[in-house]
Amino acid sequence: MFKKLTAISALTAVLFTGCSAGNIANAVNQESDKISIVCTLFPEYDWTKEILGGQADNIELTYLLSNGLELHTYQPNAQDMITISECDMFVYVGGESESWVDDALREVTNPDMKVIRLMDVIGDAAKEEELKEGMEADDEEDEDAEEEPEYDEHVWLSVKNAETICNALCNALCEIQPEQAETYRTNLNAYTEKLDKLDNDFAEMADSASVKTVVFGDRFPFRYLVDDYGIDYYAAFVGCSAETEASFETITFLAEKLDELNLDTIFTIENADESIAKAIISSTKNKNQQIAMLNSMQSVNSDAIAGGASYLTIMQENLQVLKEALN
Ligand SMILES: [Zn+2]
Repeated sequence: MFKKLTAISALTAVLFTGCSAGNIANAVNQESDKISIVCTLFPEYDWTKEILGGQADNIELTYLLSNGLELHTYQPNAQDMITISECDMFVYVGGESESWVDDALREVTNPDMKVIRLMDVIGDAAKEEELKEGMEADDEEDEDAEEEPEYDEHVWLSVKNAETICNALCNALCEIQPEQAETYRTNLNAYTEKLDKLDNDFAEMADSASVKTVVFGDRFPFRYLVDDYGIDYYAAFVGCSAETEASFETITFLAEKLDELNLDTIFTIENADESIAKAIISSTKNKNQQIAMLNSMQSVNSDAIAGGASYLTIMQENLQVLKEALN
């Protein structure tokens, strides 16, 4: 909608040939009369699409991590910066892995842009990052220990937070397009019912689980999810850790937890190399635990989206994995 005169036709051509799935990829905001919405992370994009419903076709909706880049390593390219600076609504998490956003928002050319920061939207529900017993401390974090507390940014993994955020997204969309407000509110209500059902299903799973602890041989971004349902956890690293090596102490501690709690499953997150999980298994008494994966949606690519991946389908898969592991 907000018009910029510089056309980058060469770049446009490259981007369009590279487009595997229509408006999913970083399509250039070519039709300047369309409302443009930019989301950094997959759940933000998926929720916005749910609320827009049939109107999504009339909106330029950009998901910045669509080519499979990971939240923690993504940096915007020049075209991303232009798309962000001109958009009508920008949605981001606002945690430690999106420190680039401050710079991007300084370049904004649209004075009416709505900016939605998930960490602000959930307010008091934001949790401080927890260095739990047995976890490998980040070198960086030791130095920062005296400074302000770092908040756990993986807020989208709580279904309850998802409902709060969808409500905020709907409010912003209704302000941008008051003529569509009724449609958006109807879509939000229908989607909230599905989130309620998902929330209940997770609660039932936790209630009937014979084990209420998960052990991760990996980073742990799922604190918001497990806290919602009274599930305890142990993990090798905090959610945003850049560490890839676990110490002998960490591996031994987690192996002893598996033994002590008699757990038959150790968890990893998507794209894990499983070497830490395997090292932990081989340090246990029985050495026969299975490895299961929970998807934290930090690198959902356009192929997965074209294949039908959504916040709901991915969380339902996570639910099934937990159901089997904690049975
Ligand atoms: Zn993170």
